[in-house]
Amino acid sequence: MTLEMGKPLAEARGEVTYGAEFLRWFSEEAVRVSGRYSAAPDGKNRLLVQKKPVGPCLLITPWNFPLAMATRKVAPAVAAGCTMVLKPANLTPLTSLLFAQVMQEAGLPAGVLNVIQTSTAGAVTGPLIKDDRLRKISFTGSTPVGQALIREAADKVLRTSMELGGNAPFVVFEDADLDKAVEGAIAAKMRNMGEACTAANRFIVHESVADEFAEKFAAKIGSLTTARGTEPESKVGPLIDGKARDGVHALVTEAVEGGAEAVTGGAAVDGPGYFYQPTVLKNVAADARILQEEIFGPVAPIITFATEDDAVRLANNTEYGLVAYVFTKDLNRGLRISERIETGMLGLNAGVISNAAAPFGGVKQSGLGREGGSEGIEEYLYTQYVGIADP
Ligand code: NAD
Repeated sequence: MTLEMGKPLAEARGEVTYGAEFLRWFSEEAVRVSGRYSAAPDGKNRLLVQKKPVGPCLLITPWNFPLAMATRKVAPAVAAGCTMVLKPANLTPLTSLLFAQVMQEAGLPAGVLNVIQTSTAGAVTGPLIKDDRLRKISFTGSTPVGQALIREAADKVLRTSMELGGNAPFVVFEDADLDKAVEGAIAAKMRNMGEACTAANRFIVHESVADEFAEKFAAKIGSLTTARGTEPESKVGPLIDGKARDGVHALVTEAVEGGAEAVTGGAAVDGPGYFYQPTVLKNVAADARILQEEIFGPVAPIITFATEDDAVRLANNTEYGLVAYVFTKDLNRGLRISERIETGMLGLNAGVISNAAAPFGGVKQSGLGREGGSEGIEEYLYTQYVGIADP
């Protein structure tokens, strides 16, 4: 993965562990799939309810987590008893091939997991989606492609699971432990150089602690070693390509032109590779584009709030709803906020929430369905009811 898309070796190793956890978790979930047999209220008929695999699935994955995004789909699909075609991103085709080879060596029967690589995704997936044998699409990637696939799936009324884009708020209250909040902010922002759907995208900080948080965050983020992912000391690798780096820089430049101030960073790193300086921006204008779009880079824009209501309003001010992070020592406030924030996931004093045991997924335009946890296997099962006449 480091060679394919640039993430530091330590993160690639971490992803292997994280990705493998889905196989372990769903191998255990597989034995817990069960139905029920009961009497109907009229006392005459009996009800048999059984869970069955949905059938052949098309699994489409992005380039940013080439292994984990594949295992998060393949593991529950196999556990449920489905066959599948996996289409990895064309920028990272190799990891999924190695993964398929490992699955084959582990004894997965031929034909259960099929990998198709292509640089013209739509041309290959279009006919698959029209094929009468296909029953489900599980997609992880950008919201516009997810929306197009939902439209394609509608013709066949296919089941769809969609893990789409995010615009995560990272809310810091005045009572938060600022050192822990900075640690969480580094984890939530810098994992995979910020190229993550869960990346903290908007830092919403109480006005009384905003300057202190910005200084501490900038000092920490600025001290991370930016180097090729293969260098052991690398903490920040290159972005996926030049277009991505230019896109990140355009967001930063626009924000600065609109009045933001770079506390640290603010430019591409000179020299070969697509490195971008870890960047903290403060005084970002409320209507800046950087607050509306996924940054997908190591850039942290900070805005401030005065009241809890303001914090909630700002956090929800996006079409996305994947994850939010909230830092406060007041647990009641944390729980109250969790009820008011419109996201599928929330990290309470936690900068990392991804976990094989957790139902990962979003609301609003961040997606449909859940991956991981006991919910994850349900996405690959359907319920069949058999009515039995009074035996
Ligand atoms: P992308 O949407 O460009 O591509 C994702 C996958 O879809 C790739 O395999 C690609 O080849 C394929 N694809 C592209 N166009 C297609 C089409 N017309 N028909 C069928 N397949 C098509 O996304 P990306 O750039 O690879 O990944 C980044 C995006 O993924 C970000 O928006 C990020 O937030 C999102 N993401 C979401 C999650 C999550 O769990 N919610 C996780 C990781 C990434």
